[in-house]
Amino acid sequence: MQIELFHQNELLLYNTLTRRKEKFEPMHPPFVGMYVCGPTVYSEPHLGNCRTYVLFDVIYRYLMHLGYKVRYVRNITDAGHVESTSGEVGDRISAQAKVEQVEPMEIVQKYSTAFHRILEMLNCVPPNIEPTATGHIVEQIEMTKKILKNGYAYEQDGSIYFDVEKFAAEHNYTSLSGRNIDELLNNTRDLGGQEEKKGRLDFALWKKALPEHIMRWQSPWGEGYPGWHIECSAMSTKYLGQQFDIHGGGMDLIPTHHTNEIAQSIAYNNCNPVKYWLHTNMLTVNGQKMSKSLGNSFLPEELFEGNHELLEKGYSPMTVRYFMLHAHYSSTLDFSNDALNAAEKNFKRLLAAQTLLDKLSASGNINDEEEAAVNKTFVHIYNAMNNDFNSALVIAQLNEMASLINNGYYNSDKKANLREYTLNRLKETYNTFLFDILGLKHEEEADNTILDSVMNIIVEIRKDARNRKDFATSDKIRNALKEKGILLNDGKEGTTWMVE
Ligand SMILES: [Zn+2]
Repeated sequence: MQIELFHQNELLLYNTLTRRKEKFEPMHPPFVGMYVCGPTVYSEPHLGNCRTYVLFDVIYRYLMHLGYKVRYVRNITDAGHVESTSGEVGDRISAQAKVEQVEPMEIVQKYSTAFHRILEMLNCVPPNIEPTATGHIVEQIEMTKKILKNGYAYEQDGSIYFDVEKFAAEHNYTSLSGRNIDELLNNTRDLGGQEEKKGRLDFALWKKALPEHIMRWQSPWGEGYPGWHIECSAMSTKYLGQQFDIHGGGMDLIPTHHTNEIAQSIAYNNCNPVKYWLHTNMLTVNGQKMSKSLGNSFLPEELFEGNHELLEKGYSPMTVRYFMLHAHYSSTLDFSNDALNAAEKNFKRLLAAQTLLDKLSASGNINDEEEAAVNKTFVHIYNAMNNDFNSALVIAQLNEMASLINNGYYNSDKKANLREYTLNRLKETYNTFLFDILGLKHEEEADNTILDSVMNIIVEIRKDARNRKDFATSDKIRNALKEKGILLNDGKEGTTWMVE
């Protein structure tokens, strides 16, 4: 395959840990281990999270396109112990279970299903392993025991805390965030319940369960539940090893969650767990941070349906996916009706060009200028993706290709003035980037699936009517469908149908 020529350029990615762009060199090629922090399943999926998962989906797809054998692990946080930046431990799953008057695991089931449904609508490929925190309590206890044994944690009334100050005295605790540790220690506010901890930045590896706490497990320190950060360390170690290639998540996770994951791994086995840390930026709405308190936050389904006062109309899941990819993952993405409308129009243009491209054949009249213009795009589109997965530049190149396709580089009988080899490569590259790498698709496909199943039912009902010699009903169905542009054809093998 010719396009392999263009893979050879270096893939560069921005590593949060080193704060620079680096050449991607996996530790054990062709294998790549990638871990992305998954959702806490206590409410409807957040649009900002969806952007993160769409962007990592594109990274996953591209690494596979390059020929890597990727193991993509994305966890489900279902044990409910969310630690806020202030260090306070709350249990959002149990809190929501009380609100909805159900079991915590019903909350987990309900919102895990909702999460998977939305990601499927956004055409995200499922990860290879999707471990749950509650399924890995044993691993979290084992890791906690060893950190305790290594002297980086202490027990306080049935809870185990990570000793950040001791760790920071020996290691660079803020290597990922680049923050000043002394400032952090001074700025951390004292909050209720913190008196158990020795240091202000210490965080729970294991928390003693109060009598009212429903989700609880046996441990060497009595009944309790694990801290949030330890679950990702335990599960990434279990499935990707003590050191792996890529760890991703939203950039809000850098200062606490990911910082603590690194500290835990070093305290556990003196091993820096991750080679490349990748972080996605936040969403804004009309230039303001998206947040519930500002009333400018909408759910993915509200966006699909246009069911929110800030939205003029709904946008299809593929339009939303396209919109999410038209900015680089390290930039903020601003939602506005104008930007969404522009994305919708632009996405349709790319799809129309794809449909046209598939119908083109080589004319035999080769125009060197056109050849050169098309050949350039092959190089540029790989360069764009190799430049820190820059989907925004990839989309710009697809637009460039669409212009070449649309603007008469073919004659009236759909013949392109390109070498057959170049035309085939254009088809392959365009389709590969649009569908396989960016993960976009024609949405009629989804509609046809529904239409297919509905038509099967209608054809069956009509067959029954005909078997009963009820030709009035049978003709009524045929005529009504014809009015809607669907033609029935009764043949020897049964009835088939087609859209006019
Ligand atoms: Zn995590």
